[in-house]
Amino acid sequence: MEHIGILTSGGDAPGMNAAIRAVVRTAVYEGLRISAVYRGYQGLIEGDIVEMGARSVANIIQRGGTVLRTARSKAFMESEGRAVAARNLRERDIDGLVVIGGDGSFRGAYKLFEEHAFPVVGIPATIDNDIYGTDVAIGFNTAINVALEAVDRLRDTAASHDRLFLVEVMGRHSGHIALHVGVAGGAEAILLPEVHTDADEVADMIVAAQERGKTSSIVIVAEGAYQGGAMNLQARVRERCGYEVRTVILGHTQRGGSPSTRDRVLASRMGYHAVRSLLEGHHGVMVGVDKRGIVHVALKDVWELRKEIDWELIELAGVLAI
Ligand code: ADP
Repeated sequence: MEHIGILTSGGDAPGMNAAIRAVVRTAVYEGLRISAVYRGYQGLIEGDIVEMGARSVANIIQRGGTVLRTARSKAFMESEGRAVAARNLRERDIDGLVVIGGDGSFRGAYKLFEEHAFPVVGIPATIDNDIYGTDVAIGFNTAINVALEAVDRLRDTAASHDRLFLVEVMGRHSGHIALHVGVAGGAEAILLPEVHTDADEVADMIVAAQERGKTSSIVIVAEGAYQGGAMNLQARVRERCGYEVRTVILGHTQRGGSPSTRDRVLASRMGYHAVRSLLEGHHGVMVGVDKRGIVHVALKDVWELRKEIDWELIELAGVLAI
């Protein structure tokens, strides 16, 4: 391996820049050439590729988003598009590719690996943390810290005015953000896509909490937990329990901002190991972390298998909300 390419794809996540920096600098350290592909797979198809050096990634470790920009590419979903992408890489003598993104991006990376025998390695980055094979993905820690800060501020008002706040956090298909923010923010209830809860149950829970002497409540609602989101839930809960309810949707504020220490360190480790992995011939894999440390997981498993929610944490949240 002599020349590596790097791209970011799918949804952006804080810490992607720290991973880019680590990949570029490790490659330079190892005596490899390194080229950046702008705008993900779309830029790969269009040949938006620029050679980098160690200084090209100065001053980016602290920045959110991705300096390489990201895009969603319909053309890459087709085999013709992927053939153009593989040709663009080979024409530039690029013989390995690091893809930083979520499971959609890995699906694409796996196809490039399988159809064109192109050596790829994935680095998981998504605030949702819903990627199989790694305990944590880049961006999750920053996102939960941002959401938690908002919840702490809302609790001050909730406690002063005897109010109920429904706080909607990101997570259309998975409740990892909601669960962590809910436990850390001392929520009275946490609604997740993985556990069906209807509005009447939420209202009953709130009334019961009032009867136990609680005067204010915070309920964390994952985007995908309730049909129509927290706004819809608000109307149903107010109707049923006659309690003043306010809804706050944190939205994209959770995606941006300077990455936390944890995300920067995680991204640096994963970037370093992604290059090592290409050099050592572990291809078609994602670099992950678990109790054992750094692990390599087949890309095929990453998008075929589903990461479980932490059921122990769900049980604990119920106990502590007594
Ligand atoms: P994420 O990586 O954050 O999950 P997406 O699901 O939007 O984001 O995927 C990012 C890009 O990966 C898509 O725009 C597309 O170009 C590529 N991709 C996703 N799924 C596939 C697939 N089944 N085959 C080929 N490419 C795919």
